[in-house]
Amino acid sequence: MSERVALVTGGSRGIGRGIVLALARAGWTTVVNYHSAAQAAKEVAAEVNALGAKAAVVQADVGSAADRERLVQAALDLGPLELLVNNAGMAPRQRADLLQMSESSYDEVMNVNLRGPFFLTQRVAHAMIQQVQAGAGGAPTIINIGSVSAYASSTNRGEYCISKAGVAMMTALFADRLAEYGINVYEIRPGIIATDMTSVVQEKYDRMIDEGLTPIRRWGIPDDVARAVLAIAKGDFPFSTGEVFNVDGGFHLRRL
Ligand code: NAP
Repeated sequence: MSERVALVTGGSRGIGRGIVLALARAGWTTVVNYHSAAQAAKEVAAEVNALGAKAAVVQADVGSAADRERLVQAALDLGPLELLVNNAGMAPRQRADLLQMSESSYDEVMNVNLRGPFFLTQRVAHAMIQQVQAGAGGAPTIINIGSVSAYASSTNRGEYCISKAGVAMMTALFADRLAEYGINVYEIRPGIIATDMTSVVQEKYDRMIDEGLTPIRRWGIPDDVARAVLAIAKGDFPFSTGEVFNVDGGFHLRRL
């Protein structure tokens, strides 16, 4: 099992870190990608090693074509790539009202959250198709970490919402295109998860959860998402592709 290789973008912190550790516990070798937090990524790799699994730490900006190529090469050096988790993502640096959003913030968020993952997936898909045709490794899987923001409007971070709506269609498109090769593609759609990304709005979300925003009245934790990744990575959904797994405490339910 330990030769199964997974690439997790943004594996240094938050949800990505949780995914890396869950995969490591199940014996996967992981590529822990990060952008700036080198020390955090090293610590995740050390935790992986302490669990008896292997990890390679790779700095790369998912928004850069040259970095993506280097990242994929580093993963392929470890063996057939059986799992890609497109997790890296960012909120806008400044929450600005939709009527004031800048073009630079729009471009940055779309590049990291959608354009980068799209072209990373396209690159990895070619490698996975070759592996399948060569009979190397098991059936590859791709998991995109989307968000409830794909459908829930937040007018002070519209670029984030648009990027996650794009991730939903990206999942559908690759699921459709790659099915003939036995490569299934899924979206996990987290709700409110306690990480650095949400720490800036902790009080607001504390209050909203207390008031019943979600039927399950608690914050999600990275491990909630990681457990869903693991369930999919085990290969127990062979006749499902393009599926969206809501990991959101029931946020998506319409209620009366
Ligand atoms: P986080 O704590 O802010 O961590 C973000 C991770 O992404 C870090 O590992 C970061 O690397 C990496 N990253 C950011 N920009 C990158 C880039 N250009 N290239 C490569 N890596 C980059 O965020 P999180 O809450 O764990 O979010 C993870 C994913 O879940 C994101 O796609 C986010 O949109 C999604 N999500 C989060 C929530 C939530 O409530 N937290 C809800 C729904 C969806 P460094 O450590 O090097 O900065």
